[in-house]
Amino acid sequence: MAAFSKEDKQLIEDNFQELLDVSKRSSTKEQHELIEKAFNLANRAHNNMRRKSGEPYILHPIAVARTATHEIGLGTKSIVAALLHDVVEDTDITVEDINLQFGEKIASIVDGLTKISGVLVNKTTMQAENFRKVLMTMSEDLRVIFIKLADRLHNMRTLDSMPPNKQLKIAGETLFIYAPLAHRLGLYAIKVELEDLCLKYLHPNDYIAISDKIKESEKKRLTYINRFALPITKRLNAEGFEFEISGRPKSIYSVWNKMDSKNVTIEEIYDLFAIRIIFEPKPEMPEKTQCWNIYSIITDMYLPRPDRIRDWVSQPKTNGYEALHATVMGPNGKWVEVQVRSKRMNEIAERGYAAHWKYKGINQQESELDRWIKEIREMLEDPKSDAFEFLDDFKMNLFSSEIMVFTPKGDIYTLPAKATALDFAFYIHSEIGFQSIGANVNHKLVSLNQELKSGDQIEILTSPKHEPEANWMEFVTTAKAKSKLKNRFRDNRKLLAEQGKIHLEYLLVELGMQPNSNIFRKLYNHYKTRNKEKLYYKIGEDKFNKEEFKKILDKRSKSKWIKFWSIESKKTKSASKKFDKTKLLVVDDSTDNYKIARCCNPIPGDDVIGYRKSDDEFVIHSSSCLNAIKLNSSESDKVVKVEWTIHKILAFLGRIKLKGIDAVGIVNDVTTVISKELNVNMRAINVESHDGIFEGVIDVYVHNVNDLNNLIMNLGKVKGISQVYRQEIQDESIQ
Ligand code: MN
Repeated sequence: MAAFSKEDKQLIEDNFQELLDVSKRSSTKEQHELIEKAFNLANRAHNNMRRKSGEPYILHPIAVARTATHEIGLGTKSIVAALLHDVVEDTDITVEDINLQFGEKIASIVDGLTKISGVLVNKTTMQAENFRKVLMTMSEDLRVIFIKLADRLHNMRTLDSMPPNKQLKIAGETLFIYAPLAHRLGLYAIKVELEDLCLKYLHPNDYIAISDKIKESEKKRLTYINRFALPITKRLNAEGFEFEISGRPKSIYSVWNKMDSKNVTIEEIYDLFAIRIIFEPKPEMPEKTQCWNIYSIITDMYLPRPDRIRDWVSQPKTNGYEALHATVMGPNGKWVEVQVRSKRMNEIAERGYAAHWKYKGINQQESELDRWIKEIREMLEDPKSDAFEFLDDFKMNLFSSEIMVFTPKGDIYTLPAKATALDFAFYIHSEIGFQSIGANVNHKLVSLNQELKSGDQIEILTSPKHEPEANWMEFVTTAKAKSKLKNRFRDNRKLLAEQGKIHLEYLLVELGMQPNSNIFRKLYNHYKTRNKEKLYYKIGEDKFNKEEFKKILDKRSKSKWIKFWSIESKKTKSASKKFDKTKLLVVDDSTDNYKIARCCNPIPGDDVIGYRKSDDEFVIHSSSCLNAIKLNSSESDKVVKVEWTIHKILAFLGRIKLKGIDAVGIVNDVTTVISKELNVNMRAINVESHDGIFEGVIDVYVHNVNDLNNLIMNLGKVKGISQVYRQEIQDESIQ
């Protein structure tokens, strides 16, 4: 590589001087010295190194530092870290060296930046893992992610000198990860520039066509905007506002995106006309009031489109964005989008959270971003979550827009659009998520898969005995709920596999058999699997008893020794009858050492038995359940009587079957009856109608058998219903 010429050195000096000129926040002598020291170190370390474009390498860290301070608004430490961001990776200087010279804080930021840039790898999983590191470090210091974005921005600005395949890869990655991240952090200007640059490399023809078109219409656009703005300007002046009105061209990418997703031509994109009003708030009045006053002035002159008002003043977006948006009909019947912002709001909109720090005194709320980071950190710290899955889930959250919902107490939660009641439950607390049985949305009972809308008020109904169900995965949409459920199911599966293994070992000992390949072959065949883990899991699910086990082993040949074993086991059975069956298990609201058997789902008031599964856990079966009958005969020493007192919680699942003549409104009548029963919560209703016959299955949560009988009685009174009865639940969908 060619050593730096005199011109090169002058270029470096000029660039650095420009950086110092824009670093207004680093005005003290100490701050200047620190920046200079970092520059000198980096300059020496990158001496005679060049970028692909041929320019001195050090221009890159200088540009990154410039963006960090000038465009994002970061301070001295960030400038220093940005200047040093590539030295550890590309030169002999270590993090320890930086620690010694610049202190721990800066060293840790540089370390974070080094780790996340890493080596370029092609495997998707590795990228996901890298990205995980990005966010992991981010949760320690947000500056790492800001500088990383500045780094990526400069790389995108200078992408021309890279070979085409690298261009595509880097642009794709930027569009996939960095632009949404910039958006999430409220760095609007950077997000837009990144997107436009991505488009330039990913769809060069579209990019050129659209930017030409925008340039072409520029003059026409300005004329129109002026005509639109003139009367507003007059009124605002008269009202004593200090303000700025500007036309706002749409970004190339956003036009492209709209054309692509809505399949329209550029002429058809109606809100190509957009103006922004930025005002200096009058001290005597809240900013919010002034925003609405300006809105009122505009709509005095132009008719608003009521469905296009966006109030992010009363409730800012998650990324901190505040503004009032409206679409009004301007001259010639053209729609014009108007954004009203105070100066402070505008700075936050352009520079995101960096600007928030500046206005910390004004916005005292715990920032949504902090909450978001906390959530991500929880996910990252969970050793079980898989990096690749995580990336998918995360991306999903980034791209969806948001809805705002409320708890009954009025607390606000921001969720991605399409989130369900169950997602909301997980947002409140993962335990609440696991125990959810239903929800009241705007005081109306709905099932957990109900999609939420902005403004909904939600109360989650829980039952401590409830376990998450496999089909829940189909209707949770948030990364948080998904990862919690995945882990829970994984844990359950593992647990069942362990139990299955122990169960098998126990039966083998009982039968006096040694495990051998023949036994396993038969088991594998029986369960139609070749995977040991799966086999144990299935056995854990099944928990076959000796007889069933023997049947499996016996599938082909009936040999004498099997018969012998059955005689033996009969003996044990009769011996165990002596066991004290008068033992009593009392179950009430304070009892927690029991589970409800999923094969029969008994409810309080039913005839039941208890089966001692371990020292501190019982399973309650309905006495008429086939499994209970089996247990009574094979393991009667573990069976106890149960006294089940009335519960206060709606925890027990009952199923009702209905039959009748299909009539208009019958479903409505049925649900009305159910909703009037205070002691009943509906979980699911499934109605089928054929040839004039109406058949329905309703699952409800009740306290006890009385509730269920009451409901059955009242349903019987519904006109058209001819049969109502309780059905035992044998839900295969539950694992
Ligand atoms: Mn770099």
